[in-house]
Amino acid sequence: MPLRLYSSLGREKRPFRTVTPGLVRMYVCGVTPYDVTHLGHAFSYVQFDTLRRYLLWQGYNVRYVQNITDIDDDMIMVSKRQGGRPIAEIRDENDAIFRNDLDHLNVLRPTVYPRATDHIPEIIETTRRIIENGCGYEVDGDVFFEAARFARYGRLNGVTLEELAKRENPESKREYKKRGPLDFLLWQQVDPGDPSWDSPWGLGRPGWSIECTAMSSTHLGPQIDIHGGGSDLIFPHHENEIAQAECAFQAEPFCGWWMHNGMLQLEGVKMSKSLGNLVLARNLMKEYEPDHLRLYLLSTQIRVDADYRGDALPAVKERFERLRLASVRGEGAASAGNPVRAAFVEAMDDDFGTPTALDLLDEAASRVLAGTGETDDAEAIRESLGVMGFAFAGARGPANGDFNP
Ligand SMILES: [Zn+2]
Repeated sequence: MPLRLYSSLGREKRPFRTVTPGLVRMYVCGVTPYDVTHLGHAFSYVQFDTLRRYLLWQGYNVRYVQNITDIDDDMIMVSKRQGGRPIAEIRDENDAIFRNDLDHLNVLRPTVYPRATDHIPEIIETTRRIIENGCGYEVDGDVFFEAARFARYGRLNGVTLEELAKRENPESKREYKKRGPLDFLLWQQVDPGDPSWDSPWGLGRPGWSIECTAMSSTHLGPQIDIHGGGSDLIFPHHENEIAQAECAFQAEPFCGWWMHNGMLQLEGVKMSKSLGNLVLARNLMKEYEPDHLRLYLLSTQIRVDADYRGDALPAVKERFERLRLASVRGEGAASAGNPVRAAFVEAMDDDFGTPTALDLLDEAASRVLAGTGETDDAEAIRESLGVMGFAFAGARGPANGDFNP
């Protein structure tokens, strides 16, 4: 069976095919570096890192782009709250901490790591194309996307426009200027003193979703194979990305597989700074190895909402030790016909089934430690864990050489 992946668009598993044979164009929404990142971010980026590694192991060339949203309402709000501290300073400080965490977690760095503020000309050009193609309109310095003009609007969420319009929408701004309730800003006028750029519509700054469209098309072209991000981005951000890209570049579909990671809660409660219940990966890594965290995070299938509990990691540590002890018994590579290797591939090919893969590696480890497995099971365990990005098993480190600083 070839690799099958679930796409949120259509809600089904389909055999994976790429636009260009042998090349995966992959875009994952990055963070807005206005604040600390928590274990939920680590869950997302470790999952997509593992998918990327698996595709590389399958022989694909993977071009992985992950953005930095360094101009938006949150960045401006934090800058004001810190007495007008430059946004670039806030961005660089938080981004350095975030990247350091991901490096420790052995997450491969993106092929390209673009910043929104470095793509203002592309954002303006994309906005201009959307207006030209009939889906955008300007009202007194603000440019909106007119959702009703894009026939496929709402398809990713699979509900009617009426239902979508009732949902909470962080892009609800300047309502009095909009033609329809789901219209969203591509370009916006700024308050005095806020960062701004010159544009055909006057001084202003980008809307939120247009930033990702400009960055993905600049670095991956108009059509991509995998788009990743948290399930909280399905509406409106990703619905908007589809509308913008397909309207601006007239290539359908914009993306072959929409992959959304589940949300991570803490003992049943959403993690949030205001509740003071953030669990930070870097704090956990003071007590546990990064590989322990990776094992914990990959024990949940990417789409599933997970619930972190304080007693999770001690149990993971024991599990990890068994896998490590079994895998160090092997030397060299497993044979192509090794049944553990074959079962690992089957589990991963079935919609990136990391929990199933880890379970079967556990069982194989028990056999190795009991001396009842195949002769090269230990090698197969180590190779599989290496593919999943475990540093102890020889997985490649974060700096991959083609990273653009
Ligand atoms: Zn995005």
